[in-house]
Amino acid sequence: MKKIVIANWKMNGDQDLVRNFIRRFGANLNASGEKTGDVKSEIVVCPPAPLITYFNELRDHSAFFVGAQDCFWKDCGAFTGEISPKLLKEIGCKYVILGHSERRTILAETDDMIYEKWKAAVSCGLTPVLCIGEKAEERKKWREILEKQLLQYQKEADLHGTIFAYEPVWSIGTGQIPTVAEIEEVALFVRKVLREQPDFRVVYGGSVKADNASEIMKADGLDGVLVGSASLNVDEFAGIVDVAN
Ligand code: PEP
Repeated sequence: MKKIVIANWKMNGDQDLVRNFIRRFGANLNASGEKTGDVKSEIVVCPPAPLITYFNELRDHSAFFVGAQDCFWKDCGAFTGEISPKLLKEIGCKYVILGHSERRTILAETDDMIYEKWKAAVSCGLTPVLCIGEKAEERKKWREILEKQLLQYQKEADLHGTIFAYEPVWSIGTGQIPTVAEIEEVALFVRKVLREQPDFRVVYGGSVKADNASEIMKADGLDGVLVGSASLNVDEFAGIVDVAN
C-alpha cells in the first residue's frame, strides 16, 4: 500500500505558504527540484481552517489532498465558532485530524468528545486521522493509555479507513523520537487491539524530519507519518515525501 505523509501546519502558515506548496507539489517536484512525473506516496496537507478553501482552489487535485485539523461532533446548529464536518466535506476536505494532544491538553478534549467527533466525521464522509499517544510521565504504561484511547473504536464494526496516528506527547516538537523497534511495537499493539476491524491505517508523528524519516519509515506495520513543524518548510517536507516514495 502507498505510504501516506500528512502535514499538520497547526496555527501556522499563510497564503504565501499555500502558494509555495502548490508550486512545489502541484508540479510533483522531488527534494532536488526535479520533476518526478508522479508522486507515489499519498500527500495530505492540513492547513488552518481559514486557508482550506484557498488551498483547494489552487491545488492540483492529482497531487495531494487537503484535510482539516479538527471538527465538531454535530454537522450544523447553534454551536458558535465550531467547525462543521459536513461543510469541511463540502469545501473539498478528505481528511480531518481529531484528538491531537494539543487539543486534549489545551482545550480539555476527552476520549468521549473525540469519539463523538469521529462519528460525525465519518458520517459526513471524512476520513479521520485520530491521534493517540502517552505523555512523558506515562511512558511506562503506554499500553494502558493507548488501549483506553482506542477503547471506543474496538467496538466499531467499520473504522471507515481511519488513520490512527501514534504521537507520543513527549516527542512532539522536542526532537526526541522513539526507536524503530518501539514504533514497531506500538504499531503492532494498535493492530492487535483493533484486530476485528479490517479498515484502518497506523502512522507515526513526533519530530519527523527529512533526516530521520527513512529510519522511522523502516518500522514494520507503519503506513506513513504525520509531520508538524517540518511541514512548514517546503524543502524539508519534500525531503520527507521523497523518503516515502
Ligand atoms: C504534531 O504535532 O502533530 C507533530 C507531529 O509535531 P512535530 O512534527 O512538530 O513534532
